[in-house]
Amino acid sequence: MTPDSDPECIFCKIVGGQIPAAVIYKNDQVTAFRDINPQMPLHVLVVPNKHVANTEVLEPQHDALVGAVVRAARDIARQEGVAERGYRLVINTGRDALNTVPHLHMHMLAGRAMSWPPG
Ligand code: AMP
Ligand code: ZN
Repeated sequence: MTPDSDPECIFCKIVGGQIPAAVIYKNDQVTAFRDINPQMPLHVLVVPNKHVANTEVLEPQHDALVGAVVRAARDIARQEGVAERGYRLVINTGRDALNTVPHLHMHMLAGRAMSWPPG
């Protein structure tokens, strides 16, 4: 059993309310807050309340949690009024993807037309 929270983790501290963030959505499994360095008109991070490092450590026991993160992102898109135009959901893992915070998080990016592939 891994602990639900890592006392050194910045996103665990946001989930626990120990450091401030612009939280726009919360339920018993998921918290979402505005990215401090937004890359799009709407840039939200959707995180599990429980500390999970990244996609490399996911086990079948996490399936419901990952589903809850994706559905929360969908609900936030509706809440923020971008569901019809569209949005992009991104999870970065590892060095090549420039993952910096070791607490699983899904970026929700929206608010303008995007290009593909990403840089
Ligand atoms: P990643 O590169 O996928 O690990 O993304 C980490 C993201 O967390 C970056 O977009 C940062 O701007 C964002 N971030 C880091 N610290 C905070 C914070 N205290 N509040 C909100 N967003 C943060
Ligand atoms: Zn954490």
